[in-house]
Amino acid sequence: MAKKQFKAESKRLLDLLINSVYTHREIFLRELISNASDAIDKLYYKTLTDESLHFDKDNYFIKITIDKENRTLTVSDTGIGMTKEELDDNLGVIAKSGSMLFKNENELTDGHEIIGQFGVGFYSAFMVAETVTVISKAFGSDEAFKWESKGVEGYTIKPYEKDSFGTDVIIKLKENTENENFDDYLEQYRIRSIIKKYSDFIRYPIKMDITEKKLKEGSESEYEDYTEEQTVNSMVPIWRKNKNELTRDDYENFYAEKHYGFDKPIRHIHVSVEGVVSYNAILFIPEKIPYDFYSKEYEKGLELYSNGVMIMQKCAELLPDYFSFVKGMVDSEDLSLNISREMLQHDRQLNLIAKNIKTKIKNELDNLLKEERDKYEEFYNSFGRQLKYGLYSEFGRNKDLLQDLLLFYSSTEKKMVTLAEYVSRMPEEQKYIYYATGESVERIEKLPQTELVADKGYEILYFTDDIDEFVIKMLATYKDKEFKSVASGDLGIETEEKDAGDTENQKNEELFARMKEILADKVSDVRASKRLKNHPVCLSSEGELSIEMEKILKSLPTANEHVKANKVLEINTGHEVFASLKEAYEKDEEKLELFTDLLYNQALLIEGLPVHDPVDFTNNICKIMK
Ligand code: ADP
Repeated sequence: MAKKQFKAESKRLLDLLINSVYTHREIFLRELISNASDAIDKLYYKTLTDESLHFDKDNYFIKITIDKENRTLTVSDTGIGMTKEELDDNLGVIAKSGSMLFKNENELTDGHEIIGQFGVGFYSAFMVAETVTVISKAFGSDEAFKWESKGVEGYTIKPYEKDSFGTDVIIKLKENTENENFDDYLEQYRIRSIIKKYSDFIRYPIKMDITEKKLKEGSESEYEDYTEEQTVNSMVPIWRKNKNELTRDDYENFYAEKHYGFDKPIRHIHVSVEGVVSYNAILFIPEKIPYDFYSKEYEKGLELYSNGVMIMQKCAELLPDYFSFVKGMVDSEDLSLNISREMLQHDRQLNLIAKNIKTKIKNELDNLLKEERDKYEEFYNSFGRQLKYGLYSEFGRNKDLLQDLLLFYSSTEKKMVTLAEYVSRMPEEQKYIYYATGESVERIEKLPQTELVADKGYEILYFTDDIDEFVIKMLATYKDKEFKSVASGDLGIETEEKDAGDTENQKNEELFARMKEILADKVSDVRASKRLKNHPVCLSSEGELSIEMEKILKSLPTANEHVKANKVLEINTGHEVFASLKEAYEKDEEKLELFTDLLYNQALLIEGLPVHDPVDFTNNICKIMK
């Protein structure tokens, strides 16, 4: 029979995997056992939901067989098995690699990362195997098949004999090398300890023939080998275990075993609730952003179990969007096995669990913020935007829950701070929480609009994320303090500058009116500035919509041309340029037009906006230089 080829991407992934320098090859066993357990789950689920099927619990088990002579290790299960087509479909392509992007192929030298990132489960066998043989008989079928492969070259599928349904995965170990002793995987104690380490909580028995020395009958000193089938795992799922008995390692192993991520989680949350609704849950806050997190493909959700049987892989209803980065599982005996996707939303029990989980996650994040600030900042770097979206969406419904999880860069502290920290530092006379928006911290540092507020010694929060200002509009206040942009009309700072500004406006009323005429509808007003110290001009905005918001709204695909902030051109009357402006107004109308245009365009540039008409602008500069 002709050899079949693996799908192109799978082939590359397989190649990477086989050749990866990887020190934890042992996890191949975890992967195979996990597949075996899933296969039994599927059959078990069938018998629970189909009344015509009756099964004895003893029928479900996984067996590990070591054959030293032939150098093989076999993982057998009594699960649902695979048809010929399923062998071809499931094992011919690496699970989730179908649409995979090989962005960082060069970085993928570690088998563990490859497995975690791509869910290559079954294929990890090739890290230790020269040949992998899968003999399977699907439940309800009377034919069995043998799938066989030596790796990248492809695989074959042939009819085969097998008595009962289920699957045997036979690993023919690689030859030992100078650095690696694959014979290690033929040792009982070694296999047993790998199972204990990674698969102890598998709910079906993992059986092995164990040979031990026992005293010979009738003798007091002579021993003989005694072989007996034993169950190696404790079969208690980790989420049903007592928290006190579990170590951080146990949780991290579980995280890896479940392919929740290839990083190490920052925190785990183990919940055991008994009450109106009883459930166990293990939740993880990941450290790194999954490669597809900000793409359409990313699906949020937790694994859902009904009394130990997995009924759904990604139950979205259990997680609000703003916590979509959370990974983990929930097991409840109060949920029906037959619950359908449609029914989920209206399930009272499930809603209660979801509500409860939301609070647990929020509390854990609060704790992280308090206890391990560095780690929280790392987390915030990855997922902070998600929290902000959560605050903004649903008309700010979640603001009480999320506002204390926000961080912004502070002008005075030179680091990320919370709103609570900001408010606690506010001097009594300071009315508002000030913020400045811009592309980056460096850009904002140079904004002329910040001068007055900074001069007063007030702290300014820097908004560098597109969504920041929208979030703050949604918040409106924090601890009864209003937010105020340093670019807004009235800064609420009573100073000599303010009075001076008013008199300057009166004194120069006609000049400003003329400039407004020249600029026409580009600005809503021209005024003497109360906030500028060293810069000649700046723009500020009046009304609800700020200049930054206008920029963002205009960049959206659904942009509306009529979205426009009311821009005010502010002139620093103390600046030497102002004298030239006044002189032009009195003596040379053409020059006034030129200066007005230049000042306006400068203000645009400082704001990070494009100049109105680049050709006009450069021509005007040339005119002045002449
Ligand atoms: P994953 O388990 O993440 O889906 P794998 O590459 O490990 O990816 O397995 C691919 C698929 O092959 C599984 O989803 C399952 O349908 C099938 N499979 C693997 N092992 C077994 C088994 N022992 N019994 C039945 N089906 C299996």
